[in-house]
Amino acid sequence: MIRKGLIALRASVKFISVFILAALLIIGVIIFLYKPIYEVYIGGEFVGYSEDKQKLQQKINDYLDGDEEEHIAFVQVDNLPTYQLCMLKKDIVTNDDEIYSMVKESGTAYYKYYAIAVNNEEQLYVSSFQEAQQAVDELKAKNSSNVAGLSIAVKYSEELGELKQTEEAVAALYNKKKVTSKAVISSTNTSVANARSKTGPSIPIAFRYPVASPRISSRFGTRWGRQHAGLDLAVPTGTDVYASAAGTVTFAGWNSGGYGYLVIISHGNGVQTYYAHNSKIMCSVGQTVSAGDLVAKAGNTGRSYGSHCHFEIRVNGKAYNPELYL
Ligand SMILES: [Zn+2]
Repeated sequence: MIRKGLIALRASVKFISVFILAALLIIGVIIFLYKPIYEVYIGGEFVGYSEDKQKLQQKINDYLDGDEEEHIAFVQVDNLPTYQLCMLKKDIVTNDDEIYSMVKESGTAYYKYYAIAVNNEEQLYVSSFQEAQQAVDELKAKNSSNVAGLSIAVKYSEELGELKQTEEAVAALYNKKKVTSKAVISSTNTSVANARSKTGPSIPIAFRYPVASPRISSRFGTRWGRQHAGLDLAVPTGTDVYASAAGTVTFAGWNSGGYGYLVIISHGNGVQTYYAHNSKIMCSVGQTVSAGDLVAKAGNTGRSYGSHCHFEIRVNGKAYNPELYL
């Protein structure tokens, strides 16, 4: 009885051993010939096998985050891959790189960069906010005329614009400050000083002031950014205006260019005197006058701000500083 049982046990141990051995052999063959591999689908369509799903997906994630290429902010992909585990023979061709390329091609990359705008009009582009800020700061430091209109805008675009370096941006955007009224005032003084020190052509005529007790309210030279062609003598309206020197009246009437009621006297050799902004004309064209003859009554006509006599001395049409000759 016992002997019979022992034989049965021995037989079953033998059987189990053989079975385990066979199983190990099969597993060994499987491990040797096959390995876990993922089928990859994009948009439900089989696109290939991935050797390393983890690695492939990481690469795709990096691409989506825009880490792959400089300036890419993010990427939009219509269809992301899905994976399915399968066991395949080791000699199957995997195509991770190809799958990655397919994902990349189906995606739209959005580049991120910065625009510097002047009065909300984009002028040029730089890579980073820091560069844009630095350019704007430099333009402010250089007192560029457009500082008030400068702004920085972030750009997301499918196309990468031409990016400038900070220094290029500053050079391109720098605008010399236009002369402000404050600057004009200071330049008025210098140019008037220059005009006064300047000598005009020698004129062999003795000129006298066209009004009695003249008070100069504005000199010859640049004023408010414009050339002031004469000498302003502040006088009340109705004050007598005299011929500065002997000559012939060649104009007596309204001037629409801003002189108002104007008298022009010619003194020969291209020399003329102008008397402008009069309230009344007291002479007529062709009349011969002597120095000191009444030709007009002072006023505030034409482009004039306050009653005065605007007096000019011209030689061949060009105005010279009357103070040089009075
Ligand atoms: Zn004037």
